Amino acid sequence: MNLPAIVSGRNCLFTLTGRLAEIEDFDLSAVVQPEPLPPIVTAGNGDKQNDREIVSGRNVHTTCLEVTEPEANDEFTGDKDAYMASVLARYRESLMERTKYHLGYPFNLDFDYGALGQLQHFSINNLGDPFIESNYGVHSRQFEVGVLDWFARLWEIEKNEYWGYITNCGTEGNLHGILVGREAFPNGVLYASRESHYSVFKAARMYRMDCEKVDCLISGEIDCADFKAKLLANKDKPAIINVNMGTTVKGAVDDLVLVIQTLEESGFSDDRFYIHCDGALFGLMMPFVKRAPKVITFKKPIGSVSVSGHKFMGCPMPCGVQITRMEHINALSRNVEYLASRDATMMGSRNGHAPIFLWYTLSRKGYKGFQKEVHKCLRNARYLKDRLHDAGISSMLNELSSTVVFERPLDEEFVRRWQLSCQGNIAHVVVMPSVTIEKLDDFLNDLVGKRSTWYQDGEAQPPCIAADVGSENCACASHK
Ligand SMILES: *Cc1c(COP(=O)(O)O)cnc(C)c1O
Repeated sequence: MNLPAIVSGRNCLFTLTGRLAEIEDFDLSAVVQPEPLPPIVTAGNGDKQNDREIVSGRNVHTTCLEVTEPEANDEFTGDKDAYMASVLARYRESLMERTKYHLGYPFNLDFDYGALGQLQHFSINNLGDPFIESNYGVHSRQFEVGVLDWFARLWEIEKNEYWGYITNCGTEGNLHGILVGREAFPNGVLYASRESHYSVFKAARMYRMDCEKVDCLISGEIDCADFKAKLLANKDKPAIINVNMGTTVKGAVDDLVLVIQTLEESGFSDDRFYIHCDGALFGLMMPFVKRAPKVITFKKPIGSVSVSGHKFMGCPMPCGVQITRMEHINALSRNVEYLASRDATMMGSRNGHAPIFLWYTLSRKGYKGFQKEVHKCLRNARYLKDRLHDAGISSMLNELSSTVVFERPLDEEFVRRWQLSCQGNIAHVVVMPSVTIEKLDDFLNDLVGKRSTWYQDGEAQPPCIAADVGSENCACASHK
């Protein structure tokens, strides 16, 4: 048998000669600190509170749960166990409360993964490439590839033509998709609409790419007239484009057909552009609404699509799905010998539990189940938008979207209670499968009731949000 040449001296001693005597001679005190606890770092002049504030304006520690060291007799008295159990019980309580009043983030909180509890005792890790076994055997690649195949079918690409993996989140999908584009066109210019997710611009900074921010229409869709002007100004360089399937704030879906047409009209043939579709929000919803020009499909000349797993799909841990064309991945991958694995993922170790959760929910619901949920969300979003309109509150709902944009509530306490995410004068509710009509009614009653007190004395006025939602959707004093 040929043993691999292991460079490190110590490993050779143990594995090749097996001289256990070496271990007995080993002096532990030479490498282990006698005092297990490092000293507590205190502020130099005793001005502890201020010190923290100064380091960073937001580094607030007031709500932190201090890690307490076990007492010598804890095991005997059980005090520590009781303390930890009470902390966790209180935490669980607060999670239940916060889950009940959640509307602003696009997370589907409606799921039951009880059957998977038995797996939490395993350290499941899909390190490296999903299609190549590594030497680490406690993995879930069989689930991962099953999930990828499901998405490949959804986005219409043959099994032998795609490559993909389950990421840690939608952001990782964007970082990967844009990197694949950059490897295909090293001197390419990145184009993304202003309302694209910040991870797209983060990618541009990380990879030091030239980046053109393209204007948006009121709806939040990319403005292809401005896109064309910017393409023509960079005619000599290939184009890498981020196309949104649901923008974060307005849920706007870019018109993929118009984007491709604009590229062609500007002299960019399909060997000079790469399109990444950011479907973090609606990547799973879009295929179920029949609007051909906007539907994501690999039958159109796109390079990659990503989606978040913890948004519409309702995975209890952050994750995402990334699918690209096999041909692109070869340019990106390099061999890493010790994993015996291709290295085309952004991360090394990868969450092996997430693919099982995705597989579980996909298998339970299937295409039909998701279709039903998509329709329910679109219907409930329409309900919310109509009720806001009836109450005289400025609001907008894009076609193909379940994100309802409306005037920012005056009271920050109200914003916090419903966990709304706000930008300038607007706020939004993202209607996910866990957002029922009853929940929307509770919210609407709360909003309408409180709002009448905010504006009752006529001193404050509801904000004008025509610039965000268009004057036809604005119900401020001068637009209604
Ligand atoms: C949420 C979101 C992302 C980022 O996804 P994470 O899973 O939060 O990293 C990217 N793009 C859009 C449009 C999003 O809504």
